[in-house]
Amino acid sequence: MKPNRCCDFTPFFPNFLVGAGLLQNKKLYLSMAKERFHPLGLLPPLAVEGGAGMDSRLDMDAHRVCDFFEKESGRCLNWSLRPAECAGFYCEEGLKKLSFFDGDGGMSEWLGRSARLFEGEFAVAQRALHHMGFSWRRISAWVEEWNLWVEEKRPMENRWRTSLEERFEFYGEIWRWLKDSGGPGDLVFDHLEEMD
Ligand code: SF4
Repeated sequence: MKPNRCCDFTPFFPNFLVGAGLLQNKKLYLSMAKERFHPLGLLPPLAVEGGAGMDSRLDMDAHRVCDFFEKESGRCLNWSLRPAECAGFYCEEGLKKLSFFDGDGGMSEWLGRSARLFEGEFAVAQRALHHMGFSWRRISAWVEEWNLWVEEKRPMENRWRTSLEERFEFYGEIWRWLKDSGGPGDLVFDHLEEMD
C-alpha cells in the first residue's frame, strides 16, 4: 500500500520519543543503522541519488519511506508515539475539505502549528541533553550539525562514541526523566509560551 503524503519520509524523532518507542518496539529500532541514532534523536536515512531505491509497490524511493510505515497494511506502527510533524498534519485528503481549511489562511495556519510543535519537541530534546550532563555549547554544536543536514543535506558525522546498547539506554533514561517530570507535553507547551 502506498504511504500517505506525510509518510513518504522519516520525520524527526526526538530522543525522548525514541526512548518511549524502544519500550514498545525495540526490534524495529534494531533494524536501523547505528549511525542514525544521534543524541538529539533518530536521524532520517539519507536520500538516495538517482532513485536507486525505487520500490515498484510504492512508486517512490523506498529509502525515504518512514521506518514506521507498514507497507502491507498501510498503517503507522508508531501511531501513539508519532512525532509532532505527523501528529500536527492531516494526511487524509477528505479532511482537507473541512471548512477549517477554507479561505486563504487555513492550510498555512495548520502547517504553521505543525512547525511550532516541531520546534517545541526539538527544544525539549535539547533540554533533555542538558539534563543528561551535556553543556549547552556541545548541544549547540549538535544543533548546528543538524541544521546543516536539513538545509544542505550535508551528512552528519555523528561522533557519538557509544555502542548501540548504550545509546538505547541513554534514550531510555531521557524518557524516564521526562515521564517523571510530567511527560513531554508540558515542556513542549512551556517552550512555546516562552517563545510568544
Ligand atoms: S511516524 Fe507514522 S504517521 Fe509519522 S511518517 Fe512515520 S508512518 Fe507516517
